[in-house]
Amino acid sequence: MSDTQRFNRVLIANRGEIALRIQRACRRLGLETVAVHSEADAESRHVREADVALCIGPAAAARSYLDTDALLLAARVTGASAIHPGYGFLSENADFADAVEAASLTFIGPTGASIRQMGDKITAKRAMRDAGVPCVPGSDGPLPASMDEIQALAADVGFPVIVKASGGGGGRGMRVVWNAADLAEAVTLTAKEAQQAFGNPTLYLERFMQKPRHIEIQVLCDTHGTALWLGARDCSLQRRHQKVLEEAPAPGISPAVIAEIGARCAEACRKIGYRGAGTFEFLYEDGIFAFIEMNTRVQVEHPITEATTGIDIVCEQLKIAQGAALAIRQEDVVTYGHAIECRINAEDPFSFMPSPGTISRWDLPGGPGIRVDTHVVGGYTVQPYYDSLIGKVIGHGATREEAIARLRVALAEMRVEGVSTNLRLHQDVLADPRFQEGGVDIHYLERWLAERAPS
Ligand code: ADP
Repeated sequence: MSDTQRFNRVLIANRGEIALRIQRACRRLGLETVAVHSEADAESRHVREADVALCIGPAAAARSYLDTDALLLAARVTGASAIHPGYGFLSENADFADAVEAASLTFIGPTGASIRQMGDKITAKRAMRDAGVPCVPGSDGPLPASMDEIQALAADVGFPVIVKASGGGGGRGMRVVWNAADLAEAVTLTAKEAQQAFGNPTLYLERFMQKPRHIEIQVLCDTHGTALWLGARDCSLQRRHQKVLEEAPAPGISPAVIAEIGARCAEACRKIGYRGAGTFEFLYEDGIFAFIEMNTRVQVEHPITEATTGIDIVCEQLKIAQGAALAIRQEDVVTYGHAIECRINAEDPFSFMPSPGTISRWDLPGGPGIRVDTHVVGGYTVQPYYDSLIGKVIGHGATREEAIARLRVALAEMRVEGVSTNLRLHQDVLADPRFQEGGVDIHYLERWLAERAPS
């Protein structure tokens, strides 16, 4: 280990494609990898390819990938001195980040305090507003106790409003209210649900944007005061708040407007002392950006930013965690062309029910501008215990049209047998004239699915 390195062996507290993705970045930087896995994942590729692998528990995530004690013990017995949490699982758990550092290990991500600040939506919004990041108009803090005051607040913001749980996540703990008559009941119900689901009944309220797009800004921050933004992604194609297809940059929004928002995000990071990779999520409607939340981890859709900027985001996360200063300056960040990611899930193409089972055929596409991130190999069994993502196909081209064209060829080349997938859905979306125009809102996919007859 050189003098400047804090660690030379990284435990990856995750599974699936992201575990492999992180392994590749570690290898690229000459770092050794420790894979941890559940009993159900013993045969996985991330386990086979790691320098050291350890089973940490049974299939249920709560007793393996979410078990802090088991992960810390695994780090100790394998001599890993850093932990990369990936996405999902414990990646945005402030107590886990604190526990890792309390065990004198490096957490590859922001501090527990940053995760906590951004995990609470009220404190996150307040921090963003203070840093000059535009936010959805609404209550400045928790809702007052008196219903009269809540009514006055909502009237001020203007109906429709959305009542949201401060501790909410995963698209849960929110309710749209169209008029004053329905407000009191919505507040009572949402507070009750929030208490049950998140152990915190605190609510806030904001204007409900009716046809927004989901636009997000990727940031990278080192521990020497440098914060960069790496362009925007458009993740408006969603079903039940789950992203299905993402693209970079956001079609039809001028680079100057993105640059202005990007600079504010970077400024906010400097102000709160943020470190590592992160994403600012915005709703965008009628030319207005409104911050909704920050994700304090690497995201599933990071490859489209990597494709357009040429920056390896996971390698940068590792270098930042080693204490290195970012070698890139904002003026060096130039985006080229357009990239689109299709999330390939093992699921029924119409009911969207997960489709676990053994994959008997797995032929991957290739060619210029095509990247596939997957942990799947022929004969792999998709487990029922975890999410159904089996791979990501990313197409990059000089223009959006070229990216779409390359992806259409790639998806047509891909053959998956043994489980159902949403490949066909992606092909149909890419062929859809309205999608091809660009700039659809976050409800477009669900409207389109409702009209689409099974065939
Ligand atoms: P979560 O952490 O649960 O994902 P978010 O605050 O990111 O919560 O909101 C999830 C989704 O809910 C958004 O992507 C958007 O579809 C919808 N949403 C949230 N706030 C608003 C709003 N003010 N207006 C319209 N839709 C909203």
